[in-house]
Amino acid sequence: MARYTGPVCRLCRREKMKLFLKGPKCDTMKCPIERRPYPPGEHGRDRMRQGSEYLGQLREKQKARRIYGVLEKQFANLYVEATRMSGITGENLLRMLELRLDNVVFRAGWGASRSQSRQFVRHGHVLVNGKRVDIPSYRVKKGDTVALKARSREMIVIRHNVDTLDRQVPPWLEAGDGGFEVAVRDLPLREHIDVPVREQLIVELYSK
Ligand code: SF4
Repeated sequence: MARYTGPVCRLCRREKMKLFLKGPKCDTMKCPIERRPYPPGEHGRDRMRQGSEYLGQLREKQKARRIYGVLEKQFANLYVEATRMSGITGENLLRMLELRLDNVVFRAGWGASRSQSRQFVRHGHVLVNGKRVDIPSYRVKKGDTVALKARSREMIVIRHNVDTLDRQVPPWLEAGDGGFEVAVRDLPLREHIDVPVREQLIVELYSK
């Protein structure tokens, strides 16, 4: 599956907020949002004005896509799937994004960012119920166990992340095996998904 390969800090600047796409750099003064909290480009500062209703909806959708690293088509497909489920469409959408395997690796604290977590999955370091799964968009289910392969646990980058990232697993996950395994205890509720996205605006955008 294709992915965005351009400069990620531009994405945060476009949304005028930190989306935490780069791991440790995001918490330092090197973060471009600290110095230039306006959209990129020659006329970036001119784009600080209040936009239309449509623009607000569009920005929420782009923000969600960028946080989870999902391309337009894949995101639209998820939305269609969310509308077919019972419950609140916006919450269904966020829940499906949250249940992506690369996001679970990020939530477990093994990857410094979702893109790094995605790479770990891609490179075959992650097992789901004991079997290697190298598809970042793979959706975990309640009762699944996600673990790092034994040899991958010795990788310097992973050890460094586990030792230095002070990330608590969300309540819908349960850590085990020295922090190298997480079990999906439950499906995530909206209050357990700490992304700054107003999902209702995304639903309004797609409902037009
Ligand atoms: Fe976004 Fe992190 Fe880059 Fe800051 S450092 S602009 S939060 S990706």
